[in-house]
Amino acid sequence: MKNITILGATGSIGSSTLKVIAENPEHYQVYALGAGTNHVQMFTLCQQWRPKYVAMADKSAALALQKELRAVGNKAQVLAGEEGLCHIAELPEVDMVMAAIVGAAGLLSTMAAVKAGKRVLLANKEALVMSGQLFVDAVKKYNAELMPVDSEHNAIFQCLPERIQTNLGHCELDKAGVHKILLTGSGGPFRYSDIESLASVTPAQAIAHPNWSMGPKISVDSASMMNKGLEYIEARWLFNASKEQLKVVIHPQSVIHSMVQYNDGSTLAQMGEPDMCTPIALTLAYPNRVKAGVKPLDFTEMGELSFIKPDFARYPCLELAIEACYSGQHATTALNAANEVAVQAFLQQKIAFTDIAQVNRRVMNKVCATEHAHQLDSLESLIELDKMARTFASEQLN
Ligand code: NDP
Repeated sequence: MKNITILGATGSIGSSTLKVIAENPEHYQVYALGAGTNHVQMFTLCQQWRPKYVAMADKSAALALQKELRAVGNKAQVLAGEEGLCHIAELPEVDMVMAAIVGAAGLLSTMAAVKAGKRVLLANKEALVMSGQLFVDAVKKYNAELMPVDSEHNAIFQCLPERIQTNLGHCELDKAGVHKILLTGSGGPFRYSDIESLASVTPAQAIAHPNWSMGPKISVDSASMMNKGLEYIEARWLFNASKEQLKVVIHPQSVIHSMVQYNDGSTLAQMGEPDMCTPIALTLAYPNRVKAGVKPLDFTEMGELSFIKPDFARYPCLELAIEACYSGQHATTALNAANEVAVQAFLQQKIAFTDIAQVNRRVMNKVCATEHAHQLDSLESLIELDKMARTFASEQLN
């Protein structure tokens, strides 16, 4: 029986994780749950899953939750703030931590799990985008086990040999005979829209992903393909890949979740329904397999699979992210921060969809021109840079 902490338990990945645990009660036990502000949903989860600990980032949400739990005799220990989230990531009784808080807010608690040497199921791609080398070095130093949850990285992981799987961040693709990693993406809801029309799309249209059901931020990122850009940066760090070894391919049907090409001409692909329970189940059970509650593909019902080269005029955020990836840590941290601010503003209908890329570009250029850009040797310095980029982004909105 493995004890699990779920950071981001009230979100889309959190709920898929709980679904997989429900499929396999003989293997996994919910030990601690963490989230941001949604104490109403957290109360329901606490009653259902009876965790020993629960942490809310928002202190008043934690207080409200504690009151509600005590009123029904639920004795879960309630913690508050970033310290509370880090605490439940480090608990000695915990074997695995699902890192599924959205955005930069997930960095410190994810890092706490790494430093405690846990198996870290990494959904929060922003942590890796923000801290790249520091993150993969900490994984090695603290002997943590990194398991990619993102469906593409999980697919790539499955197509790679064991010696790469067990040395993420420091692996050598060349020595394993890998030619290229093909990162697939659906292209989002606007892949066939007239480019001119993108300036007037609404948040509801952007969130309506054709294949996947996800939280609002990642859904908007999928529409702009910033999500693929963040995944590109994530893949660069996880698989220690060079520019020549990483390529993005649009695959509208989302049947293939990514591929690895080898020097002998073979291409390995991982396929499945677009359901996050499959990659989550693998990260929990690796090297074994458990039930995920997902039906296997029916190839006779599938229809044609197609593949398209991404068009940067349609997806300027993707181009920006690839550029940032090779500019350095300052650029990816700034881009991630700017994008979070811009996406939030778009969701609140303060800016147009096409403004997201413009805000991101301006902030990235401005941060790259500052002296802070080259002194990033600690988490604190990255968090400082993240704050500065958010301030620049807010100025752009005004
Ligand atoms: P959701 O928006 O559905 O959920 C976000 C979770 O983060 C909620 O539990 C929320 O708590 C919590 N949260 C938000 N802000 C804070 C904060 N400041 N401190 C602590 N907790 C906070 O997001 P998703 O589940 O879609 O995505 C989570 C992560 O997984 C993202 O990094 C995303 O990129 C990644 N991912 C998601 C995929 C998907 O299919 N959804 C696929 C691959 C990766 P509350 O509800 O209380 O606000």
